[in-house]
Amino acid sequence: MNIRQIQKARESYGIDSWGAGYFGINDQGNVCCYPTLDKNHEVDLNAAIEKMVKEKNVSAPMILRFPQIVESQLNRIHTAFAEAIWNYDYAGKHYGVFPFKVNQRREFIDSICKAGQKIGYGLEVGSKTEFMAALSYDLPQDALFICNGFKDVEFIRLAFIAKAMQKNITVVVEGPDELEMLFDICKESPAMAKLCPEIGLRIRLYSRSSGKWAKSSGETSKFGLSTNEVLHCLAMIKAQGLSQKLSMLHFHNGSQITQIKRLKNAVKEASRVYAKIVKMGFEPRLLNVGGGIGVDYDGSKTSCQSSANYTPKEFASDCVYTISQVCKDEKVACPDIVTESGRIIAAHHSVVITNIREVESLTDENRMQPNEFTDMNLQHKSLQELDFISKDISQKNYNEYYHDAIAYQEELFTLFNLGYIDLAQRACGEKIFFQICQKAIDFSAGEKHQPEEFAMLQKSMVTRYLANFSIFQSIPDAWSIDQLFPIMPLARHSEVPDHKGTIVDITCDSDGCIERFVDRNTTRTSLDLHTPDDRPYYIGFFLVGAYQESLANEHNLFGAIHEAEIFMSPTGQWHIGKVTSGDPIDELLVSRNFELEEMLSAYKLQMQKSPALKADPALEAAFTKDLQKTMHGYPYLLS
Ligand code: PLP
Repeated sequence: MNIRQIQKARESYGIDSWGAGYFGINDQGNVCCYPTLDKNHEVDLNAAIEKMVKEKNVSAPMILRFPQIVESQLNRIHTAFAEAIWNYDYAGKHYGVFPFKVNQRREFIDSICKAGQKIGYGLEVGSKTEFMAALSYDLPQDALFICNGFKDVEFIRLAFIAKAMQKNITVVVEGPDELEMLFDICKESPAMAKLCPEIGLRIRLYSRSSGKWAKSSGETSKFGLSTNEVLHCLAMIKAQGLSQKLSMLHFHNGSQITQIKRLKNAVKEASRVYAKIVKMGFEPRLLNVGGGIGVDYDGSKTSCQSSANYTPKEFASDCVYTISQVCKDEKVACPDIVTESGRIIAAHHSVVITNIREVESLTDENRMQPNEFTDMNLQHKSLQELDFISKDISQKNYNEYYHDAIAYQEELFTLFNLGYIDLAQRACGEKIFFQICQKAIDFSAGEKHQPEEFAMLQKSMVTRYLANFSIFQSIPDAWSIDQLFPIMPLARHSEVPDHKGTIVDITCDSDGCIERFVDRNTTRTSLDLHTPDDRPYYIGFFLVGAYQESLANEHNLFGAIHEAEIFMSPTGQWHIGKVTSGDPIDELLVSRNFELEEMLSAYKLQMQKSPALKADPALEAAFTKDLQKTMHGYPYLLS
């Protein structure tokens, strides 16, 4: 094995940085996962795919999930707070809740609740549907159950039912109207009054956040109560004699916060609000600092949008320290701290895997056959000029020669439109022009600063890899908000990659492509890829476990892909757990109100009218079978 090349690949794809200890390249040049962070206990992703294909009859595209990573991340947050509380001798506890919206898959929430049992982890919901799902889980006794989001009477009534089920439930109100609804339900009967849930207030902070979701914070945010509204709500609560029910102050300054100083400022401001409210005679014992811990998608550990300039440990330490300092200053008791981290817990646990179906390389397409050029009838001056440029272009003249070549190329198109040259001559001109472009790019790359024109030219001439998946279904944020995810081939890292490529998906949408890739220092416009041979060439999309499935859409009616859970045993043997099939075509059709029986009858009727099939009943029977098979099949391309 070419160990030097493997080390080069580790550095070039940055896997040891964004992998956070969970992903790496082994000495065989294959990408592997260490679900328990033990480097001796690896799952070779290629071996896992092979097992899925051979033993489970499941092929790409698929998601591989590692529930042990979820457990490990939960423990990371929990331990970070436990250590900070210990270090600062903080007189309060930490409670974690997982926000349902980050990944609503039942299997995922199961793994959160299982892993959270030991550390009293709870759930946060933002809609009635999420509430109904969360209510079915038997959470640990003191674990919190938090209702956020905009609510109606039906939603708030669910909180009373949850309270009756002995859930430790808090309704975080977004406005005075929600408080009114809650009071009205309390007044329905003494029994209902007894079931009044705890009340939380979501406060709107002045401190602004950083990153893509900065608009969730600051005075103009859509969420939370202004200072006046907070005072109004406090007065309403007091007037109802429910002051003891106000148990939580909450804020959430947006997801993927890139700068620790923004988080610290928000915590400082919220702690002050908490202290002032305590001094008004209320006893909100919980300060909920929301989510927002950033994931280091590009491994740069900086404040750029796809990274974060801090670790969860630093976040916990700053939170505990800041709150303790403000409380000391204000001479009030320290609150218990609640976190609603989602992205940092869910992102690493799943990998989307796709296979490459086709490679569209301009280099291959434009390769000259031996004697092709000399055989060509070169009576046209533009062709002769292009030929001369391609031979004479150099580091000194590439800029000027490239511009001349553009002019001759345009002349050739004019000649073609006027009927003076044939298709073969046009094709020959295109090939020579391509070679000139390539040489010009090579010369420009030798400059200290590559001129923008040639950087753009280079970008337009990359190889396109057609990947068997839908960006809109599997990594919708890459399309909707230009989110960067680490992407790389899963094998052959002992070989030097010979293409600079971009990824295009199989949807009929020009937005279905990825042309920006992570890099520690900047972003790249292409990915280093190999020329596929007769083995399947798999590409992995990493850190996709947060938000992607909840935001997925079925563009072109490509539905959810197959998925499997993978577990590592204490002795280092791994096995495949639950396998869930992707959405079949019939389910996708039914979801759009198509009636399958009606469709089958319509096919039959049309076939009966077909002269070709009337004459061949066996062919009609075979076609009917094909239609039925496809209807129950997988919408993605078959291997
Ligand atoms: N809490 C609330 C109220 C949210 O809206 C969100 C998501 O934006 C979260 C928690 C989770 O945030 P993150 O996934 O960034 O940790």
